Amino acid sequence: MKSDRVKRGQASATILLAEDNEDTVITISEYLTINGYHVIVAPNGKEAIEMAQKEQPDLILMDIQMPVMDGLEAIHRIRAIPDIQHIPIIALTAMAMPGDEERCLEAGADTYISKPVGIHTLLTAVEKQLQ
Ligand code: MN
Repeated sequence: MKSDRVKRGQASATILLAEDNEDTVITISEYLTINGYHVIVAPNGKEAIEMAQKEQPDLILMDIQMPVMDGLEAIHRIRAIPDIQHIPIIALTAMAMPGDEERCLEAGADTYISKPVGIHTLLTAVEKQLQ
């Protein structure tokens, strides 16, 4: 599987992970880095927007519940900023928050995955959005 990704040139993709929970950051970063992705992390939506503009990542993983600026607001703003509005966004939703999925898509996310995030679900969603 890994050689497939290398062949398609996706393994060097940079993924911005916007997530405030340190355990989730560690878990998801590990899943992605062992599969060859370059991961950068922002602890809230405001810093995610700033980092996206500076680093131009290939994909954004956006947690919804974050301090300072939540994921929905950050997605909404990213979709209005010309140099980053094209970047695919996967929202990370908590199943305890009914309606989050629809709100993510309305805000401009391309898709969403529910927490706790499994490695297979994550990699499948990431690969699909990078195609
Ligand atoms: Mn959170």
